[in-house]
Amino acid sequence: AVRRRMAAACARSGRPAESVRLLAVSKTYGPEAVRAAAEAGQVLFGENRVQEAAAKIPECPGHVQWHLIGHLQSNKAAQAARLFDWVHSVDSGKLLEALDRHAGEAGRRLEVLVQVNVSGERSKSGLAPAEVPAVLALGNRLPHVQIRGLMTIPPLGEDPENARPYFRELRERRDGWAAETGLELEELSMGMTHDLEVAIEEGATFVR
Ligand SMILES: *Cc1c(COP(=O)(O)O)cnc(C)c1O
Repeated sequence: AVRRRMAAACARSGRPAESVRLLAVSKTYGPEAVRAAAEAGQVLFGENRVQEAAAKIPECPGHVQWHLIGHLQSNKAAQAARLFDWVHSVDSGKLLEALDRHAGEAGRRLEVLVQVNVSGERSKSGLAPAEVPAVLALGNRLPHVQIRGLMTIPPLGEDPENARPYFRELRERRDGWAAETGLELEELSMGMTHDLEVAIEEGATFVR
């Protein structure tokens, strides 16, 4: 049903269906649910806590890809760098440096997104837009992390249309930062179950 919604939103906005990927969020679900979804063809899974993921991932099929979407403390960066393929929630230069170092030690390369607090809500993690260019420049110099784009979580709201200005702002800022830094920043992780259509219309490449 979610894939049908995604396909309809892609068709409406003139985007190819394969330009948006579905990240199935498996937090609070056990390995048997991941296994069932994987058997049905789902490949990308999202977790928001390192500890929960560390217990779950070894019990899941080896071919699936793991994305960290929750806030990450630097003291868990070593574990995260071994467990995850992507981290969507990089929100400081210090964390990015820690991920780079631990990914290097583990002989891996991590794909990362910089989380941006577009709304400025104090309860939300993510960098203020003014802080983003310095972190992008840092990421550009680090060998074991590849900054692939940006992530945001808009304020909670009943009406998905209320999220549109935040999704649009992330895309517009991305266009500016990509031009400034030379990074492609092609990935936009935005949109959840209730507002994924609006996110796709505004350019999401991952919906969660
Ligand atoms: C839990 C979570 C989601 C999925 O939320 P739904 O409301 O189930 O769609 C998406 N993104 C993040 C960052 C989450 O923590």
